[in-house]
Amino acid sequence: MTRTPPLLEVNALKKHFPLRGGLLGGVTGQVYAVDGVTFSIAKGETLSLVGESGCGKSTVGKAILRLIDPTDGEVWLDGARIDNLPASQLRPLRRRIQVVFQDPFSSLNPRMRVRDIIAEPLRNFGLADGGEVDDRVATLMDTVRLPRDAMRRFPHEFSGGQRQRIGIARALAPGADLIICDEAVSALDVSVKAQIVNLLSDLQDELGLALLFISHDLAIVEHLTHRVAVMYLGKIVEIAERRTLFANPRHPYTRALLSAVPVPDPTARRDRIILTGDVPSPISPPPGCRFHTRCPYVFDRCRTEEPLLREVGEGQKAACHLDELPALRMLPQAA
Ligand code: SF4
Repeated sequence: MTRTPPLLEVNALKKHFPLRGGLLGGVTGQVYAVDGVTFSIAKGETLSLVGESGCGKSTVGKAILRLIDPTDGEVWLDGARIDNLPASQLRPLRRRIQVVFQDPFSSLNPRMRVRDIIAEPLRNFGLADGGEVDDRVATLMDTVRLPRDAMRRFPHEFSGGQRQRIGIARALAPGADLIICDEAVSALDVSVKAQIVNLLSDLQDELGLALLFISHDLAIVEHLTHRVAVMYLGKIVEIAERRTLFANPRHPYTRALLSAVPVPDPTARRDRIILTGDVPSPISPPPGCRFHTRCPYVFDRCRTEEPLLREVGEGQKAACHLDELPALRMLPQAA
């Protein structure tokens, strides 16, 4: 894929949540939810942010959307810095970056008809009024492959997949350049998941949308994404083009995640890498490599020295000391 200039740039983004306690309710610690995350997304590109629950991927999405304020770092949209904009100047940003949440039922007002749900952003941003609203809503219903006559119905009258289509139509309504899909298909059945992924992929081609696809499911992102960034405990540990990452993962954590992805061919063999132990608490991340408490290849240096995210191949970066050692060749492939 030919890379175009970034639509979104995220530089060294941090989000730390203060922990309060004691009699006076003072700050007693920090939750290091996101701790220095850097990536970019080009116009029309999909970047998937993957990792286990609690790794900070949804917090990254919320910080970009300014649903929460970042602690440090920068976010740029189309060459303009947006992380430090005052609330009064956030309106244009809200139009250009939209979100589709995991649970379409709770993110849609059950008392509003579909027509009004989709029309809301059109009216809020002054993009249509009068009879024009119905025309725009009807076009958006076509775009997400929902029947036009369904616009008078309420969210509870739709299936989970249809409700997610309504959420996508609402996100498309203000003419967004970037849609953040936060576990947008996680709650759906397998076949419905595939339909929504196909829809997003088609919309991307038709409308030139950029997507930040946040998911714990590597199997799903394989069919949608251009690049993948793998997060662990608040940091990106590997980022690469999709084909490169799936064919030649370099970080042991990526290898472990990939080894758990089912293969369609029942005769194919995949060496499963079982990670032991739980994800450490983001309140006190381990020193050195944050993955060292679970890594099957840990050695002394990992416990004291943090590996930096560095180039390990064309368009591929990983944060692992093993990449400086020939021992990497001994690691099982997740092919
Ligand atoms: Fe494992 Fe060490 Fe690499 Fe971390 S730096 S992933 S602990 S081998």
